[in-house]
Amino acid sequence: MLEPAPRRARGYRPRFASPQQDALLDRFIAAARAAGDGGVGVFDLDGCLFDNRPRIVQIWRELASRADLPALYRVAPEHFLDWDHRRTFANAGLSDTEIAEALPHAEPTFFRNFFDGEYCVHDHPMPGASRLVWACYRAGLSVVYLTGRHEQMREGTERSLVRCGFPLGRPGTKLVMKPDMETDDLPFKREALREIRSLGKAAVLIDNEPGNVNIFRETCPGALVLWMETDHSPRPIEPNPAIPGIRGFLRCADPSAELGEGMGPAGSGPA
Ligand SMILES: [Mg+2]
Repeated sequence: MLEPAPRRARGYRPRFASPQQDALLDRFIAAARAAGDGGVGVFDLDGCLFDNRPRIVQIWRELASRADLPALYRVAPEHFLDWDHRRTFANAGLSDTEIAEALPHAEPTFFRNFFDGEYCVHDHPMPGASRLVWACYRAGLSVVYLTGRHEQMREGTERSLVRCGFPLGRPGTKLVMKPDMETDDLPFKREALREIRSLGKAAVLIDNEPGNVNIFRETCPGALVLWMETDHSPRPIEPNPAIPGIRGFLRCADPSAELGEGMGPAGSGPA
């Protein structure tokens, strides 16, 4: 008998909308309203409220210019399927030789720049994301941005959140970051949730990492947990089948929405 295919994210599609996704966003807001004052909403940033692909495109364009690797100018957001630079470059049409020239520069450049707060300003907000966070905040929830970014990225992260219109710097909003880059995301988020629960009962949580949504479900029973299906780490962890996935924050009625079929792979629930 064939093993069922692992449940992996279906990839970035920021303008996706479907009736099933509308229903899940409705449930998210209803859960926020039901919790109201004293409740907490937990929102991940990278690959969730933000589309990081433009940040990486910017990194490759700067490298293309600095190291005279003009083939890298071809890389565009639609070429990213996962975190594998070789695959991204191949998707952008780079030849084997061009990839071989670029890769030795790419790895250290990516590592240096992606985790530099100054580069966060190149991220694009996921369409409709700020609207959802505001709806939760207006329902009375404390809004916690729980991110795997580390404290040295705080200034750029705050600037980016404010520029994109997310509630921050007002009562009941908080940005929780890792103390340093080396700390592993999963134990950090598990531990951070313990502290976040002292603010109130977590009512709604969303993240793109399967390991994180599983931790949310395990540690916040009764909360609504959504999985954002953009990209994620290559860790061999699948989200709990009971956790529904969405691909973005737009509604079918939004003029910029791209209507799609809602169902993901077997077991992924409605999207
Ligand atoms: Mg993330």
